[in-house]
Amino acid sequence: MQVWDVIVLGAGCAGLTLVNEMIARGEAQLKILLLEERSEYTNDRTWCFWNTFNHRFENAVSYRWSRWSVHYAGEVAHCRGTYQYQYLRAEHFYRLALAPIYCSSKMILRLGEQVQTVQEGEDHVRIHTHQGTYTSRYVIDTRPTDHQRRKVVPPNVHWLQHFMGWKVKTKQACFQSNEVTLMDFDGGREAAEIHRASSKYIDGPLPGIPFIYVLPFSSTEALVESTWFGPKTLEKSIYQEHLQKYLQKIETGTYDITEQEYGVLPMSTLSTNMQPTRRIRHLGLAGGAARPSTGYAFLAIQRQAQKLADQLLRGEWDRFPNYYSARSQLLDATFLRVLQENPRRGPELFWRLFRCAKPDALVRFLADTASLKDLWEVTTCLPPGLFLKQSLFPNFSQKKEIETIQI
Ligand SMILES: Cc1cc2nc3c(=O)[nH]c(=O)nc-3n(C[C@H](O)[C@H](O)[C@H](O)COP(=O)(O)OP(=O)(O)OC[C@H]3O[C@@H](n4cnc5c(N)ncnc54)[C@H](O)[C@@H]3O)c2cc1C
Repeated sequence: MQVWDVIVLGAGCAGLTLVNEMIARGEAQLKILLLEERSEYTNDRTWCFWNTFNHRFENAVSYRWSRWSVHYAGEVAHCRGTYQYQYLRAEHFYRLALAPIYCSSKMILRLGEQVQTVQEGEDHVRIHTHQGTYTSRYVIDTRPTDHQRRKVVPPNVHWLQHFMGWKVKTKQACFQSNEVTLMDFDGGREAAEIHRASSKYIDGPLPGIPFIYVLPFSSTEALVESTWFGPKTLEKSIYQEHLQKYLQKIETGTYDITEQEYGVLPMSTLSTNMQPTRRIRHLGLAGGAARPSTGYAFLAIQRQAQKLADQLLRGEWDRFPNYYSARSQLLDATFLRVLQENPRRGPELFWRLFRCAKPDALVRFLADTASLKDLWEVTTCLPPGLFLKQSLFPNFSQKKEIETIQI
């Protein structure tokens, strides 16, 4: 019976990044098997993030912007920083990440292997898939958990970032290609109308904070997303109508939808419901990689995979690194509680951050690499009363239901 050193369950962003980091370190010491349920890789998502450090997949980045903006109440906060906002297509990431694995004799990827059960024994773990049974000393599990079914006890907050994106090609020029629209809350106003008009939700509260996100590739091509921060996902028709209304508003004229994406990411103070055991650890979104206040995960996965590869090569299985510093976790928990308690102020709070804070300081803050000076710069942009109350008395006014949002 072959016993692998490590079996990685799921070869998506986290699994492939970890193995690439191992290969880059010389790979000779450990034999790793990756079990992935899909039988082929497609362009199933796009990643965007600020390049606060060099990652292994720089060569796969297709677009870079150094300007971004936030729109609120008819005003626009334009930001320009030294960090670039990068756009990486999954198809390019997979191509780059798979090449060294296919050349390696120690790292084996098996596609079409849907993991059914994982049995942990005293000195090994046994994995059963439809194709067979595999044994290893350790397991790193990156299979997604269900973010939408979590038991939440206050003062924890478990929100979701949920979005639908269309890559559109228009006939007439209507996008400003050198600036990303990170959050257009004015575009969120249409979402409120659509939501109210939807028969199912008559008189119900608006479940979250909607906005439009635009990644412009040229004056006639962009990825436009209907994005919501809130406790639950919506019917697909609501995102679609939101996108249609926004495109109408910016007067695109006729357009073709060339690609679509949909995602649900956790924005949560519950890092993961999967407890590590002696021989099984979780990595990627399943391990709590999504930043609680934003849902961004790509860069955190890169950083974590680098640390983990170093530790695995040193045989330090027990010292699995945390994704985010205790300081970030505390600040994010406070921010999420403030949003949950005061959703109608959400747009204004984001606006204040992007309008007042220096762009580089804010980006470092979002990337969990803020200095004390950055921290001061960012936190002093926010109304102190709201935040002090939530950080000092997190249980003070936990509401059972989300407040109705008037946009
Ligand atoms: C549409 C979308 C857009 C996103 N955009 C951004 C962004 O712009 N910026 C950002 O920072 N983050 C973004 N994210 C969040 C995050 O970076 C990604 O979700 C990222 O892919 C997470 O990596 P992961 O390895 O944890 O999960 P995945 O990449 O989803 O990998 C998990 C793997 O496990 C496999 N698997 C599942 N079940 C089984 C099973 N039973 N057996 C074997 N294999 C299994 C899956 O097929 C998959 O390959 C986005 C997410 C989505 C869905």
